[in-house]
Amino acid sequence: MFAEKMVELGSRRSTIREIFEFGNRRAAQVGRENIFDFSLGNPNVPAPETVSDTIVRLVREEDAAALHGYTSAQGDAEVRNRIAESVNRAHGTHFTGDNLYMTVGAAASLCVCFKALAEEGDEFVAFAPYFPEYKVFVEGTGATFRVVPADTESFQINFAALEEILSSRTKAVVVNSPNNPSGVVYSEETIVRLVKLLKERSQEYGHPIYLISDEPYREIAFDGVQVPYLTKYYDNTFVCYSYSKSLSMPGERIGYVLVPDEMEGAREAYAAVCGAGRVLGYVCAPALFQRVVSECAGQTSDIAVYQRNRDLLYGALTGMRYSCVKPEGAFYLFPRSLEPDAYAFCEKAKSLDLLLVPGDDFDCPGHVRIAYCVKTEMIERSLGAFEKLAKMYQ
Ligand code: PLP
Repeated sequence: MFAEKMVELGSRRSTIREIFEFGNRRAAQVGRENIFDFSLGNPNVPAPETVSDTIVRLVREEDAAALHGYTSAQGDAEVRNRIAESVNRAHGTHFTGDNLYMTVGAAASLCVCFKALAEEGDEFVAFAPYFPEYKVFVEGTGATFRVVPADTESFQINFAALEEILSSRTKAVVVNSPNNPSGVVYSEETIVRLVKLLKERSQEYGHPIYLISDEPYREIAFDGVQVPYLTKYYDNTFVCYSYSKSLSMPGERIGYVLVPDEMEGAREAYAAVCGAGRVLGYVCAPALFQRVVSECAGQTSDIAVYQRNRDLLYGALTGMRYSCVKPEGAFYLFPRSLEPDAYAFCEKAKSLDLLLVPGDDFDCPGHVRIAYCVKTEMIERSLGAFEKLAKMYQ
């Protein structure tokens, strides 16, 4: 009677949600201060004051019917122009509002790109570890989702495996840097090597392999590390951006897709993005928040907090002999679990009220994700539990 796949997707709770709910139940029993919940990637740093000031000003001063009304499907023209100018200031690019399509966050940006591209028999490739919704989004279009296993020494790209997986069926490759869950930023060397391979294979197969750059964490990068802007390296790049993390507003659902003019078939690509948005029923991105992000473009919440948390947690855990690639961005640490079965390891952690997520959820067994977008003092209080957990394996 109902679409079987949808019933299954809607009934299966995500492991991350399960852990989060467990944390809430335990908090009711033993007190919130005794639970060390590192399960969710919900930014704990508040949106900068300018966000609330802008909301208040717009609501007080603007015509309510226009402010809350539909915008054009691709987003308000002035909003898109302002955002394009801010991207150009940051990256030395030359985009205009016509290159942008406003969306309901990065998840929608990705869905729109997959839908815009997917034709029968197509494959989309992602690199483990990856944001688990990619698989759901790609398979939702009827296309096939292919995974390049992780290079667990560096969490850069496993090129040997990628070379095997690319084929004439590959429509696009998805990259996410800074990465959820590894926190790794792909180096310029990695990007140059990736685009060289994609150009060679595009030529060989006689059609472009598109790059989809999922970048909700772009601004969350530490120690001055540069996150390469991919349209500067590869014309056939869709940028999927979101303000969920940079401005700490994941619940407000706002982001965009950027389609460069230099892309092969750019006009059709942009039309396909608009068409995909129609089919998916997005109508337009939230009108008030289009205005808010355009007026706050280029600003971020206080990212220094995440760097402090990274330094504290990475320093403490590596001192306890947890092994971990040092993250340069986002707000996740992805150490090896202290036994091969990350689920069993997370169960032991749970017995200490330490809530971690098994790497299997990101297609990378033997690791755990620690989301450190939490209060620094909770990290300080949690260190004893991490120590006890390590001692269980001595
Ligand atoms: N992509 C990655 C890698 C993410 O981690 C997330 C959210 O956590 C998303 C996409 C979805 O972001 P949004 O809230 O903007 O839809």
